[in-house]
Amino acid sequence: SHRTSWSRRKLDRLACGGEGVQGNNSPLKLARPLRKQESILRDVIIIGSGPAGWTAAIYTARAGLNPLLIASSVEAGGELMKTTEVENFPGFPEGLMGPDLMANFQAQAERFGTETLLDDVVEVDLRGDVKIVKTGGGKTFEAKTVILATGAAYRELGLPREKELSGHGVSWCATCDGFFFRQKTIAVVGGGDSAMEEANFLTRFADKVYLIHRRDSFKASKIMADRALNNPKIEVIWNSEVTELHGEPKLSGVTLRNTVDGSTSQLDVEGLFIAVGNDPRVWLVEDQVELTSEKFIKVEGRSSKTTLPGVFAAGDVIDPTYRQAITAAASGCVAALDAEHYLNDH
Ligand code: NAP
Repeated sequence: SHRTSWSRRKLDRLACGGEGVQGNNSPLKLARPLRKQESILRDVIIIGSGPAGWTAAIYTARAGLNPLLIASSVEAGGELMKTTEVENFPGFPEGLMGPDLMANFQAQAERFGTETLLDDVVEVDLRGDVKIVKTGGGKTFEAKTVILATGAAYRELGLPREKELSGHGVSWCATCDGFFFRQKTIAVVGGGDSAMEEANFLTRFADKVYLIHRRDSFKASKIMADRALNNPKIEVIWNSEVTELHGEPKLSGVTLRNTVDGSTSQLDVEGLFIAVGNDPRVWLVEDQVELTSEKFIKVEGRSSKTTLPGVFAAGDVIDPTYRQAITAAASGCVAALDAEHYLNDH
């Protein structure tokens, strides 16, 4: 379960795939030894090393706050480490590889004095004026502010070949990977707004999109559901769940089980987009900061302020809607500015 350690779930976390990168080939540099002692009171600790975390580091470092960014031991870099070509991050007209983009983020943050630690945060106490952060490597740090940028994990179906076929037909992100399925027959799993949105979006590329849902009515809002139901390229397969994935080395089809009568059938598809919800990684802080009804960290208005003074949150851990690298980066910037203002006042 995701309650182990957000940063230890490398293999459990299947991200925006495209031709997804398998295995641990992180180009992120090993962190240098920390310049500052563990025992000093820092201005800022950032937890998480996706676009939100690194952007918060770039801004707080340039503000002279010498942030410590705790990047996790095995999955430093976040979701973009699992993608290949990133074509929609502004400023890179030719596109670039997700891991290269993250290495650039790190280099830019370190250029201005960010200290990076490849370790897992296992416990925090954020309630006092001095925030305490403990790592799996046995270190304890103290800071006046903490920026939480721990991201969210796409929910999986839990099928045997799901990880193996991630990036080879199985995807969690239509915005990222839809482009690879021009004129193909594909399927989307789920009955919520995300599934509707993904299915509609994918009809721009695919010739045919099956929408597979385990019940006989959608959970999605009426307007989103109607849009999918009225789309001539979408065919809904009700009362069905995917039980097996087939194809070597790429997905070629799935086995469906009817949830009413238990009968099974085969469906030929070259793509399967899984949109059954996602889980923000909040286990570290869920007993300390307020969460939204959807279990994201609650922030005040357009700010990054959580319900605890001096604690800010950014990126996918606060965002049920947009979930893009660029929106996460922007959110990291907001958190850095909010932390800076807080430090000016305290
Ligand atoms: P969600 O609302 O939790 O819906 C998840 C869907 O996946 C449900 O239909 C659920 O089935 C199904 N599901 C869950 N686990 C499954 C499994 N193991 N196998 C098969 N099906 C499974 O998640 P979401 O669609 O990602 O939306 C999350 C939030 O973001 C919602 O509040 C949504 O309104 C919001 N959102 C809004 C927009 C928009 O307005 N533009 C777009 C995207 C998301 P059951 O129905 O049977 O439970």
